[in-house]
Amino acid sequence: MRRMNFTDTQVATSETARGINRGIVLNLIRRRQPISRADLARASGLQRSTVSLITEQLIRENWVIYGSTGRLPRGRRPTFLQLNERRAILVVDLRPSLTTIAVSDVNGRFLSKHEVPTPADPDAAANVFSAKLRQLIESHPDLMFEGIGISVPGRFDELHHRVLFAPNLKWPEFDLRGPLEKATGLPVEMENAANACVLAEVWFGQAELVRDLAVVTVSEGVGVGIFSGGRLVVGSNGMAGELGHIPIDADGPKCGCGARGCWEVYASNWAALRYYREASPAGADLTFKDLLALGEKGDPSARNALERQAHAIGRGMRMIVAALSPEEIVFVGEFTRLWDSLGALIVAEVKSAVLVGKPPRVRPAAAEPSVARLRGTVALVLQKHFGPYVALDKPKLVGGQYTQAAL
Ligand SMILES: [Zn+2]
Repeated sequence: MRRMNFTDTQVATSETARGINRGIVLNLIRRRQPISRADLARASGLQRSTVSLITEQLIRENWVIYGSTGRLPRGRRPTFLQLNERRAILVVDLRPSLTTIAVSDVNGRFLSKHEVPTPADPDAAANVFSAKLRQLIESHPDLMFEGIGISVPGRFDELHHRVLFAPNLKWPEFDLRGPLEKATGLPVEMENAANACVLAEVWFGQAELVRDLAVVTVSEGVGVGIFSGGRLVVGSNGMAGELGHIPIDADGPKCGCGARGCWEVYASNWAALRYYREASPAGADLTFKDLLALGEKGDPSARNALERQAHAIGRGMRMIVAALSPEEIVFVGEFTRLWDSLGALIVAEVKSAVLVGKPPRVRPAAAEPSVARLRGTVALVLQKHFGPYVALDKPKLVGGQYTQAAL
């Protein structure tokens, strides 16, 4: 979220103001489509003439199209505007064993989805993904592709274009962006999976007006995405949020990062499977999905393993509450299917972690994990055009300065 100050340190050119207004209008159309120009003016606080200029430009650029015509009892019928669904984004959700490659429209609706086994190394992955992406582009000649978004189980260093620290993927540092841009001719945006889930909540979920949010993703590992003061926090090299690798017991089991007793070796899906195997050695081949199914049927060993995982997730919440004091904590993970029973254990831990004041709201994500990651990467590509994040409150111009509400 940009905070503009028109009087002190930053001189706003008319181009800057136009860019901000364009972002506000585009986001309003995205959130409230189909919407008339009159409603756009009312909701944005912009003048009708400004809204008309911006929408004409967006129509020329093929971002927006005319939709249905509204009906009023008398007078002119307003024409409603909506996003052009022929604008599309290619998205890749890179996971340690299986990768999903999908085509999404500008509204985050998936037009096709394919799974490929994740190749053993980055070079092979660049070849496999390039071929699949090119095939998808060719099979959708009616779509205008805007770019490619990739969610990775690691942290992305934007400055050096490399994926750093992907312990569960077991690849060395790599650059996937360069080869894929070369192969497809499209710009590639990459982001950590937990950060992608933050964007999914803010863009397509229920966290539209939340400014301080932590998203905890629980899968093979545990990742945290931080949205603070209306901005995604990435840190100096993209490594912010690696709370899953804070050791909570120096004598604990070995972690994929090389240390011992990290939070994620107690709280991940792999940890839950380890708890189950300790009690039932016959379950060596069980997947986490199988474990959940057993838990849903009331199998005592499975329930016990999942409850131990939930307690471990909850204990880590102390770090999150103390470090970030978020308004809301959102969980993304297959375990949220059993939220009715496991959620209470986590909520209790969060409550006990609060020193003063109200505890943060705690809830499972709006979308299931793979959809959240894919939608987040759609937002990653779109935010270049729509602006990083624009809340729907009206901007308040006070004494020549915008207050923080909308920008
Ligand atoms: Zn670790």
